[in-house]
Amino acid sequence: MRERTSEVDAAPPMPVYDTSFETLPGYDELLLVRSAGEALGISNPFFRPHEGRAGPVSRIDGREVINFASYDYLGLNGHPEVRRAAQEAIERYGTSVSASRLVAGERPIHRMLEARLAGLHRADDAVVFVSGHAANVTTIGTLVGPEDAVFHDTLIHNSVIVGAQLAGATRRSFPHNDLDALERILAAERPRYRRALIVVEGLYSMDGDVPDLARLVELKQRFGAWLMVDEAHGIGVLGAGGRGAAELLGLDPGLVDIWMGTLSKSLASCGGYIAGPQAMIDYLKVSAPGFVYSVGLPPAAAGAALAALDAMERETGRIATLQANARYFLEAAQEAGLSTGTAEGHAIVPIMVGDSLKAVLLSERLLARGVNVLPIIHPAVPHRSARLRFFITAAHAREQLDEAVRVLVEEIDECSRLLAELGFGGV
Ligand code: PMP
Repeated sequence: MRERTSEVDAAPPMPVYDTSFETLPGYDELLLVRSAGEALGISNPFFRPHEGRAGPVSRIDGREVINFASYDYLGLNGHPEVRRAAQEAIERYGTSVSASRLVAGERPIHRMLEARLAGLHRADDAVVFVSGHAANVTTIGTLVGPEDAVFHDTLIHNSVIVGAQLAGATRRSFPHNDLDALERILAAERPRYRRALIVVEGLYSMDGDVPDLARLVELKQRFGAWLMVDEAHGIGVLGAGGRGAAELLGLDPGLVDIWMGTLSKSLASCGGYIAGPQAMIDYLKVSAPGFVYSVGLPPAAAGAALAALDAMERETGRIATLQANARYFLEAAQEAGLSTGTAEGHAIVPIMVGDSLKAVLLSERLLARGVNVLPIIHPAVPHRSARLRFFITAAHAREQLDEAVRVLVEEIDECSRLLAELGFGGV
């Protein structure tokens, strides 16, 4: 009896496990940024509610402002036929398909949409997912594994990186659009891996530039790799028919193995898709966890995207107007002496600011003057390359673009002056 008691006395103390949320990585940084903003009297630019549909004009804090923060590139969000198609899909199928497509969630509207998306890329077939992010994560997570490697542009979207992590694949990034660097990496490392996947964006979401797809096709053929192009921002934006980078560059889309896109931008809906060879689509439909174990696309989202595709094809003037607006804004900004980085005049135009604090302050001052544009700061972009990202759409009027440039020019210098006064010189 005594022996047992002493055994209990000698038991090692229970370790103290961390059950706090405040110690999660980056939480202290979040508090620091919040208090710095409060000290400087800058309100949080993120999570600001828009009080209605966010078109070229939007209502924020009870005021109408010119809006450059939404990627409704063709102005189809709110188009009467797109709205009607969403309503009709709800009338017919309800607000949810209430199951994974594999079991009881398949509706005719899903295959109609997939056939149209495959046609857009001249691909065998396509499969839709509940979001663009999910499409990338689950597709990459399914197609490659621990013996494989993902080679991607350093500015690639987060969903590609998360997909490669999920796959347990080796991840190698190359400097933005530097295909000489990619070639060197492939030459040195390709033989180590079973499969290789090269991933780029058709139109880069932070910088607004386009990769050299022909050279990428040559590299993927030479080194035995798959090429995947994320066209989240390219569809509806690039090429006379809005078919993306291949159309803009005159490349046969069949040379790209995997096309990815979203329904959330030009197509005024919600969801993502993969288009490509039949074998890959068939494989994803029974293997990709984000498809197999997730609900089918909601009917309203499928209906809206189908009607948006119709409108994009029928009203080609929208694409032409978007492209002319984007070029106009880029040239006006450059003529006014603003730095636009590597932007090429395709709907996304960054105004490079450098310092994160200056970008946040500039965004706040622009909002006060009736222009809503979001700052993009580290870690979304590398340190000291903070910018304001302008999404130009077909629905913007020239006067709105002129007004934005005029106010930007006045406020950008004023921000430098204010920050220098507050002791943040050199930003
Ligand atoms: N890829 C890129 C390049 C993106 O910019 C985004 C989102 N902005 C996604 C994928 C994810 O798409 P979604 O927002 O439709 O989930």
